[in-house]
Amino acid sequence: MIAIDFAPVNALSKAVRQGLLDAVRALEADPDVAALVISGGPGRFIAGADIREMSQPPDAPFLPDVVAAIDACAKPVVAAIAGAALGGGCEIALACDLRLGGPKALMGLTETRLGLIPGAGGTQRLPRLVGVAQAIALICEGRVLKAGDALALGLLDEVVEGDLLAEAIARAPGVPKRRLSALPVPAGDAAADEAAAARARKAAKGVPAIDEAIRVIRAAGEFATGLALERAAFLALRESAEAKALRHLFFAEREAGKVPGLESVAPRPLEAVAVIGAGTMGAGIAVALADAGLSVTLVERDGEAAAAGLQRVADLYARQVKSGRLTDAQGVERRARVTPTADWSRLAAADLVVEAAFEDLAVKADIFRRLDAVAKPGAVLATNTSYLDLDAIAAVTSRPQDVVGLHFFAPANVMKLLEVVRPALAAPDVIATALALAKRMGKQPVVAGNCDGFIGNRIYALYRRHAEVLVEDGASPQAVDAALEAYGFAMGIFAVSDMSGLDIAYAMRKRRAATRDPAERYVSIADRLVEQGRLGRKTGAGWYAYDAAGGKSADPVVEALIAEGRAEKAIVPRSFTPEQIQRRLLAVMANEGAKALAEGIALRASDIDLAFVHGYGFPRTRGGPMWAADQMGLRAVVTEVEAAHAAGGAGSEPAPLLLALARDGRGFADWQPTEQAEQQGGQQP
Ligand code: NAD
Repeated sequence: MIAIDFAPVNALSKAVRQGLLDAVRALEADPDVAALVISGGPGRFIAGADIREMSQPPDAPFLPDVVAAIDACAKPVVAAIAGAALGGGCEIALACDLRLGGPKALMGLTETRLGLIPGAGGTQRLPRLVGVAQAIALICEGRVLKAGDALALGLLDEVVEGDLLAEAIARAPGVPKRRLSALPVPAGDAAADEAAAARARKAAKGVPAIDEAIRVIRAAGEFATGLALERAAFLALRESAEAKALRHLFFAEREAGKVPGLESVAPRPLEAVAVIGAGTMGAGIAVALADAGLSVTLVERDGEAAAAGLQRVADLYARQVKSGRLTDAQGVERRARVTPTADWSRLAAADLVVEAAFEDLAVKADIFRRLDAVAKPGAVLATNTSYLDLDAIAAVTSRPQDVVGLHFFAPANVMKLLEVVRPALAAPDVIATALALAKRMGKQPVVAGNCDGFIGNRIYALYRRHAEVLVEDGASPQAVDAALEAYGFAMGIFAVSDMSGLDIAYAMRKRRAATRDPAERYVSIADRLVEQGRLGRKTGAGWYAYDAAGGKSADPVVEALIAEGRAEKAIVPRSFTPEQIQRRLLAVMANEGAKALAEGIALRASDIDLAFVHGYGFPRTRGGPMWAADQMGLRAVVTEVEAAHAAGGAGSEPAPLLLALARDGRGFADWQPTEQAEQQGGQQP
């Protein structure tokens, strides 16, 4: 028996590959051994490659050599899969002669999620097991199969409910050799193969790993040739910009939950939670909490509003049932976890309260005063505010240490990002509780300091302002959107604004009008749209015109408004290439990100990347704005920021941190938060 024990998940580091290879060879040569069993220990198998090693040159023994040794072994080899057999772990399992899984087994070739393809025979063995069309679907989606599904598709031969290892050891000597490498690919249906490839290409939107995966899977007919093609493609993809960006995000996601000083702080226990305000956000937040198994009290202003709130929750669940994501019974059960009420005394039982009422400081202050009077001692008091001052909200209570920002993104039950906003007086275990809650809800937390717009909306506001500057200077909204979509955003910024409604940003601009720096360039086109009743999709018109079916088109009315705005300022419109638009807007985002970093609003550049990837549709394969700025080269970014400053005026000055890094030939990725204290003196605004 070969037992792999390499905490925490038995990743295939060099030491594991070497150990496995040595063990296979030694046991094969040992005349007293009849058969081999590979086990990852209780609850585990091999969760995949060691991603850290992928940024270094390949180092022997290579995984294909280990897999080849298993494949060539003259004795039967059985995989006892008690946990995750993903990526390279799945490839090892596929080379075994029998795959026995425990009920918690997980199988999948997930390499495309990291911009790669399987590199140790996965693209060649899987089609022999499930056919070409199914292999394309599984590999291109990077799908993870639970034990039952893996069994149904043949990736597992059996699911063992009892003692998996004992069963594997008992069975191994009698298992016939069954080398997948020697079997033909089942004759498939060319049309089905093509349809699977077309679906995968469409979903991937030009990610190179997907095209490569399809090409290599389709070459599986001749094993040795296919294997060589696979290895060459894998090695080339490892070095691709997309794979590097995806690896960056892989580490960023693990890093984001770590907050210096909180390593050993225990979160407060959470069972009963409450949400105040059951509008768009409140209902979505209630669903996200109920999905995490919590019972939720949903508090509204009166009985009627509470009933309407529950209806919103019910509608969200009905949609999930309709789309097949939940069964009827699951929908009913989860909905039953949410109790609507207008009775504030019900808040006394809550361990955590999330306020999601109107975005108005007076409204929120009033709610937090009342909440302070009823909530139990130690309850975490959170607000979903998008822009308001957390310290001011905390200050109305007698317990500012218990107040925190939990900034969800719409739709709150779907979007992965949760900005955890840390007011000045927040207790460490309140932040730890917010992080634990994020994990429980399957959200990606990013910790932000308290400032106008926190991390995400602060940077987004600059990004939007400069998109409007580009329009006033000569680009059309469609051209800006097309450039962003070509960059990889699912939707351009003007289409997004139309979808969220132009009135929200309008109200914010009006609120700030009195304090705005007169040296800031102000583009008033969006104000004029709102004043004409064009609030976006919900009124059938905004930056675009919308037809009854929701189709959008350029609108001559908007073109005339833009022309009028230019004429008033005597602007001679110039043209911008898509690349100029992309570089300008990326530079603006990274520049504001640098300011947030220097002020300590963001803990690390990679947190900003995560906020944009998970909350604002920034393309994953570009790694986020700070990563992308590093790839562009910070000297080039500075040049763009200077142009943006010349066009946008006050508020768009180059960040001292950006200038310093560019001068030193460094990037955001190698900047440490500890440098913040040293540099802050010169950089605070
Ligand atoms: P909304 O108008 O849809 O819902 C607000 C709800 O709060 C209404 O149902 C209202 O009846 C209720 N309410 C108001 N005062 C109340 C009180 N005193 N007691 C109980 N209930 C009360 O607004 P929304 O879009 O859901 O936004 C809510 C909050 O979430 C705001 O702070 C907003 O900035 C923030 N937010 C919104 C979005 C978004 O995209 N809409 C995203 C992130 C954060």
